[in-house]
Amino acid sequence: MDPRTATAPDTYLRELIERFGPLRDGEVSGPTEALEDGEAERFAIAMATVDGHVFSAGDDAKEFAIQSISKPFLYGLALDRLSRREVHRKVSVEPTTEAFNSLTELEEDHLPYNPMINSGAIAISAMLHHADRQQADGWMMGMFGDYLGRPARLHPRATDSTETAHRNRAIAHLLRHFDVIGDDIDGALRLYNRQCVVTADVRELAGMAATLANGGVHPRTGRRAIRQEHLRDVLTLMFTCGMYDTSGSWAYSVGLPAKSGVGGGILAVVPGRMGLAVYSPRLDPHGHSVRGVAVLKAWSREWDLGIFGGS
Ligand code: GLU
Repeated sequence: MDPRTATAPDTYLRELIERFGPLRDGEVSGPTEALEDGEAERFAIAMATVDGHVFSAGDDAKEFAIQSISKPFLYGLALDRLSRREVHRKVSVEPTTEAFNSLTELEEDHLPYNPMINSGAIAISAMLHHADRQQADGWMMGMFGDYLGRPARLHPRATDSTETAHRNRAIAHLLRHFDVIGDDIDGALRLYNRQCVVTADVRELAGMAATLANGGVHPRTGRRAIRQEHLRDVLTLMFTCGMYDTSGSWAYSVGLPAKSGVGGGILAVVPGRMGLAVYSPRLDPHGHSVRGVAVLKAWSREWDLGIFGGS
């Protein structure tokens, strides 16, 4: 039970579904092939506590592609498998006001701004792929299994839309041109595309966030998913860069490390306490779930969850 509201979590989650269900703004976007009939209207919310309790409401059994929510997790994997020094020789840690799939900054700075946008994430995938071409995919699937608490699976129908595929290929070629990545562009993109279509339902997504909230150990399985010393880096970059070009206003209004994906998921981490997740596929122009943003803003405010206190 939340001490401030004195409302049981499952009652509160059901109220959020009722309150924000009528919000039908936004468009489904990107890899829409993944959507079944009626999927645009799906709506689910979950929270997972560090002591292993999971609460949820709405379409909580529906699995969806995590898309860019994979980025902080691959970043953590690269820190674990390579080193902080090696990773940040190739990817910076600055927020950007450009869109998530922009090429502009690469032209200007010759280095991806951060691991949470496409250029940085493709550079991270390339690093892992070049570190060990045979093992990298297994590392990635194993790591997601540790965060999910079950073997990782890929979405059966999700593929990148042509537009996304060409943009990402262009980003990869620019990264190659500026010597950020090596020659095997196809191998790097394959790993990136596979990480994007790992699936989760909203309860599992909240569990992934709860693992980050719990020092890197999955609350239910007790398995470590990331080395403790790298958690701070992952959470810091989720806080400053996780919501792309709206990261500043997100930090101001929600105050939690978070990551969204164009599949319609968003997760947020309340360090030391819990993970929160929302799934609703209609997106705003920045690529974030419209209902997801609205729910997490209200939830953080009403439960006083922001890491610097409530507003
Ligand atoms: N697969 C998508 C892309 O590469 C992910 C983008 C996102 O989820 O924000 O563009």
